[in-house]
Amino acid sequence: MKRRNFIKNCLCLSGGGLCAYIAYKQKLIKFLNQIPKSQDNDFWNKEPFLQHAEVHLAEHCNLNCKYCCHFSCIAEKKLYDFEQYKKDMRQLAKVTKKRIRSFYFLGGEPLLHPQVNDFMDFTRKILPFTLLALVTNGVLLKQMPESFWKSMQKNEIYLFMSYYPIEVDYKYIDKKTKEYNILGFQIPEEENMIKYFSKSNLSQKGERDIEKAYMSCEAKAGCSNYVDGKLYPCHMPAYIHHLNKRFGTKFKVGETDYIDIYKTKNLAEILDFLANPMPFCRYCGQEFFNLVPWENSMEHTLDEWVIDC
Ligand code: SF4
Ligand code: SF4
Repeated sequence: MKRRNFIKNCLCLSGGGLCAYIAYKQKLIKFLNQIPKSQDNDFWNKEPFLQHAEVHLAEHCNLNCKYCCHFSCIAEKKLYDFEQYKKDMRQLAKVTKKRIRSFYFLGGEPLLHPQVNDFMDFTRKILPFTLLALVTNGVLLKQMPESFWKSMQKNEIYLFMSYYPIEVDYKYIDKKTKEYNILGFQIPEEENMIKYFSKSNLSQKGERDIEKAYMSCEAKAGCSNYVDGKLYPCHMPAYIHHLNKRFGTKFKVGETDYIDIYKTKNLAEILDFLANPMPFCRYCGQEFFNLVPWENSMEHTLDEWVIDC
């Protein structure tokens, strides 16, 4: 399959291959720019802003997708502590002066967090003009209580789904999103189902040209992941510890692979950091485009992510 057809066919947001992820995110950003819900255009037009950031509410997932580029299928169970989240978000809001254009709750599977409503309520208070979205594989949506749908509605949170070829009651979700006037969801067409993933193709040697990797990277500054008060330019260094732990690999994440929001002076410093490659890019297989059929499996092997193992 050609790259452009793959991109056209993919609607994955939460880990189904970087290319699908970025392509859809770029579509979304375009889409979001046309819909000023929850946003004050005067606010955004005045000064620079951080285009996007996202958090894992749960590191782990209820699906077991091979090749998951957030490594959630091999992550041990871990939930973001809500008190810590409040602290981290206050700091991020302070440093950025609340100028974050879009902010997503994802994972892993964010609906595995029993306090998902609290996260949504708090984030809306602290980021009043930001476009907020919850990104899910949809498996748990049918079990969510009315309070969840009310919180989505009250806080104007978009619902974005990764459409895997699995059993999900899309008609029910359609009904609920219409009932609560929640935007972002649509019943997927066959061509929008995720049938392929792009492999990460990491190299353990870490000898790749970081400039070249970065130039071919579609994640550049548009996929920032916020973890424990640190902002990473992309998901790779943010979650690589899951791979290291599971397989004993030694991918290193250093202090220059992220920016510590507790030590950062202002937004300009963050934007400057995100505009450049980081040392971790030396492992990255962004130059290579390698498609594999999507598969939900309990068995995982290192070669799902690593090229030289
Ligand atoms: S559904 Fe879960 S395991 Fe599958 S790609 Fe998304 S985050 Fe990874
Ligand atoms: S590691 Fe570097 S090149 Fe690879 S996806 Fe992240 S930012 Fe892009």
